Amino acid sequence: MENDQTITKDSSRLRLLSNLADYKREFESFNIEKFRSEVEWFDETHINAAYNAVDRHVKAGKGDKVAMYWEGDENKTEKYTFNDLYKLTNKFANVLKELGVKKGDRVFIFLPRIPALFVSFLGVLKTGAVAGTMFSAFGPQAIADRLKDSGARFLVTDSELAERVYQVKKDLPALEKVIIVDRSPKEDFEIDYKQKMEGAGEEFDIEKTSKDDLAFMLYTSGTTGKPKGVVHAHNTIIQQHMTAKWALDLHDEDIYWCTADPGWVTGIAYEILGSWSNAATEVIFAGRFDAGKWYEIIQKYKVSVWYTAPTAIRMLKAAGDDLIKKYDLSSLRYLASVGEPLNPEAVLWSNEIFGLPFHDNWWQTEGGGILIANYPTMPIKPGSMGKPIPGVHADIVDDNGNPVKIKEEGNLVLKPGWPAMMRMIWNNESKYKSYFTPPAVEEKWKETEDKSLLLDPKTAPWYYSGDKAFKDEDGYFWFIGRSDDVIKTAGERVGPFEVESALIEHPGVVEAGVIGKPDELRGEIIKAFVVLEPGVEKTDQLKEELGQFVKKHLAGHAYPREVEFVDKLPKTRSGKIMRRLLKAKELGQPIGDTSTLEEY
Ligand code: ATP
Ligand code: MG
Repeated sequence: MENDQTITKDSSRLRLLSNLADYKREFESFNIEKFRSEVEWFDETHINAAYNAVDRHVKAGKGDKVAMYWEGDENKTEKYTFNDLYKLTNKFANVLKELGVKKGDRVFIFLPRIPALFVSFLGVLKTGAVAGTMFSAFGPQAIADRLKDSGARFLVTDSELAERVYQVKKDLPALEKVIIVDRSPKEDFEIDYKQKMEGAGEEFDIEKTSKDDLAFMLYTSGTTGKPKGVVHAHNTIIQQHMTAKWALDLHDEDIYWCTADPGWVTGIAYEILGSWSNAATEVIFAGRFDAGKWYEIIQKYKVSVWYTAPTAIRMLKAAGDDLIKKYDLSSLRYLASVGEPLNPEAVLWSNEIFGLPFHDNWWQTEGGGILIANYPTMPIKPGSMGKPIPGVHADIVDDNGNPVKIKEEGNLVLKPGWPAMMRMIWNNESKYKSYFTPPAVEEKWKETEDKSLLLDPKTAPWYYSGDKAFKDEDGYFWFIGRSDDVIKTAGERVGPFEVESALIEHPGVVEAGVIGKPDELRGEIIKAFVVLEPGVEKTDQLKEELGQFVKKHLAGHAYPREVEFVDKLPKTRSGKIMRRLLKAKELGQPIGDTSTLEEY
């Protein structure tokens, strides 16, 4: 939804000189060598992402800088310098080597957000093995799907989570050793993390991986279907580094807090690799969402750059502005958001209450790093995802791959070959190729299973993101919806995001999830599931009022003909509204894979 409330920023609020002083110039004069020269290479073609995140800072004399302020439950805190990380990750790499880990082996990490997670992730990369992460809330089936498909040989976990793994261990013949971080072994295949770490050497001969060697993999959140194993190479670090610098504006003096979990790609790219490659001092908070606690973290650690998600921002807003006044949040200087469309309302709210707008950015697991973003020095059009990162070519095309006009809806596509582009979908080459094949052709492929229809990624003109968007006359990109979520009503196409955004502008509404519901007359009608502010009465009159509200604020045809009040929306653990689940329930259809669903 476009609106005219463009936010032009006062650069003094940034307090530091922006890393991307002139977006246009940087975009137009982009040169891949610039990306490459910001990180350290062993030679022309060899690079290790973990070396860039940790070792190079120690070698450059920055070892005493704090890398991580960690806070767990009950105010338990720990502090790690880059020197500490260097030694610990070397130790863990030595432990793995002793256990027989080879280059290319999959080593999975199934841990809550504790320091051992970060140490083991980087330790795995140092050996040349492939690190896989799983969110700690996953249940036995989700675990089995991932460990089985990836053929993981080793798993790092804790005593509590191990119990869930053991329920499905018989289905995991490839799994040889389970490294337990918090107790002594009880089974012959278990390894004692603490004991092994104590005995391991602090120096390690890091694997000089090629830029194309695989580094990490993760299964996408499954908002639209069965999770798939997206695999990235060491080269991905280049883009993660540059985007952390440009789109998150990380500076040496910043205290940076990313609220994501490394079970999702944001936690890997901007809590481990890209952020530490910039030698950022990070806060890592292992607890759950709580508005007061979050503000307390910002105040206590003097967080200056904060990267979070729309669902959290909506919850903070719902917690009320009085709460904010109890904390000193003056350390904040730059705010960014990712993962879901960021409603204009949320941007305007933060601009008013923190004096700083949230900078939305768009990317996806397959993309490896931020692809489209709002930058510190560029005016924000609330509701827009911003413009492509220098070095990334994005466009909007129709289902056959032809460009569409300005402001016309189409498929959001990228030119293949940006540094952080995924290298494969594990065990699923046709799925990988389908990303590069126009939707019209993919449809045909699905019907015929004729694999020759799928394009070769090396020669394909576009990578299809699976999202619908449009581009405006100033080159800003606007998200419409996931291709599967777009609603076709009475001959018009409506993106659920704009209806949801209009709804939450109503003072009584906290969140909304919008779907298309089959209708004989109109093809589909718009149905909205709405979460109200506490104390607001759920009346038929309010349903009517919300419909009228959208009609007035958005468009006559885009208003929800049906409104249902709910206490909660189904979301993935990473905070995305699962519209496919709302729809399946509404239609009484099977709800499909729910391994990433938050308790609901
Ligand atoms: P799956 O592909 O398995 O259904 P997923 O797409 O939810 O899972 P991710 O890769 O974590 O898994 O999410 C990327 C998607 O999230 C994007 O393709 C887009 O639909 C949505 N998204 C991310 N950031 C934004 C944003 N800033 N604005 C709008 N949508 C966003
Ligand atoms: Mg996706």
